[in-house]
Amino acid sequence: MQYYSLNNQSPPVSFREATIKGQASDKGLYFPTSIPKLDRDLIDNLSNTPDAEIAYRVIKPYVGDTIVDAELYRIAAESIDFPIPLVKVTDRASSLELFHGPTLAFKDVGARFMSRCLGQFVKSGDKKLTVLVATSGDTGGAVANGFFDIPGINVVILYPSGKVSSVQEKQLTTLGKNIHAIEVNGTFDQCQQLVKRAFADTKLNDAIFLTSANSINVARWLPQQFYYFFALKQWNDQTTMPIVSVPSGNFGNICAGILARASGLPIKHFIASCNANDTVPRFLSTGIYNPVESVSTLSNAMDVAEPSNFIRILEIYHQQLDDLKEVVSSYSFSDQETIHMIQRLFSEYNYLADPHGAIGYLGLEKWLADHPTDKGIFLETAHPVKFPDAIKRAINQDVPIPESLNGLLLADKESIKMEPDYNELSSHLQHLAK
Ligand SMILES: *Cc1c(COP(=O)(O)O)cnc(C)c1O
Repeated sequence: MQYYSLNNQSPPVSFREATIKGQASDKGLYFPTSIPKLDRDLIDNLSNTPDAEIAYRVIKPYVGDTIVDAELYRIAAESIDFPIPLVKVTDRASSLELFHGPTLAFKDVGARFMSRCLGQFVKSGDKKLTVLVATSGDTGGAVANGFFDIPGINVVILYPSGKVSSVQEKQLTTLGKNIHAIEVNGTFDQCQQLVKRAFADTKLNDAIFLTSANSINVARWLPQQFYYFFALKQWNDQTTMPIVSVPSGNFGNICAGILARASGLPIKHFIASCNANDTVPRFLSTGIYNPVESVSTLSNAMDVAEPSNFIRILEIYHQQLDDLKEVVSSYSFSDQETIHMIQRLFSEYNYLADPHGAIGYLGLEKWLADHPTDKGIFLETAHPVKFPDAIKRAINQDVPIPESLNGLLLADKESIKMEPDYNELSSHLQHLAK
């Protein structure tokens, strides 16, 4: 499989090169030159195929021979070696729980897959690679965990001091070894700007080998298809194809689902469920793409005004908005609706959702109200314990802390503190790469 740049000004590259580079030199996102069709036999027999084998067979055409089969099988299996259950919530709605991984959010799968692929690729190179990423919360923990102790790779995570939750902060500051946290006395946007400047700094890039681990990287984006296969594997209704609602921010996850459908997975319709950052819902209803400044919400992992991956969704439909609209609908919900839904899911159905999952359910419920014979799935993308304040507000109770977190909360935090100053970042990066 080759990957072309959506800006069409860079030559096509292999999976290996797309993973190492992250983004094409013309700043375009990489996209596969063709969408593979899956074996009918796999789709018809999902329920008796082991998860690891499903993952391997789904990703194999995208990786080609850039990783040997036995290694790819191991990488696919390790990326998903925790439960991903489909839990019935109402008669017509089930929750696909993606938060049982090590950092309690769905980003674990992509981060684990990408880190292991990069680990393979740098083995054959000689330069040490520095993965640099800015986080507003969940990405940092998943990347830290995924890349921990991978030889040949150093990780530097920038986060805004005092603006991530305590669980999130511990996840990125307590591992040590090759994981370095830089605590910036500023905002997430300032962290992001510092990171962008580092990638654009040719002098720095001559001195050290830098790459990014955000969701535009094909090795983080493509393995998210697995969730949708596991959902269908557990979907027991032979007569109804599910509606799937995906809480969406940067639109990487839903884009992977749409790709899985284009490969042959039987999903009837997708709902892109958004918070107040409603660029896509407005675009689908008006045909005008007009991003405005992002706003902060309770579902902060979706506070994105210009979703990077939306252009990939358009590409799947050859930029034809009408074709896209037959398969994807999109709605926006307020914080008040989110809190109210967390409360209702808890009191009526005894289900505790996090703010992102609650938005997923809101989108699904809205669709089901207009389509009385449909049934569906919403993705629950994070564990509620990551958002204790919102839960407390909704149900007036604390979230019980899962046992797996006890050790983490007691571990000592280690970070490099700095002002939002580029020269300081550059010297830290050069020092850490030694
Ligand atoms: C990142 C994230 C999202 C949004 O996923 P995208 O792929 O960016 O659309 C939703 N929920 C949670 C909990 C996340 O961490």
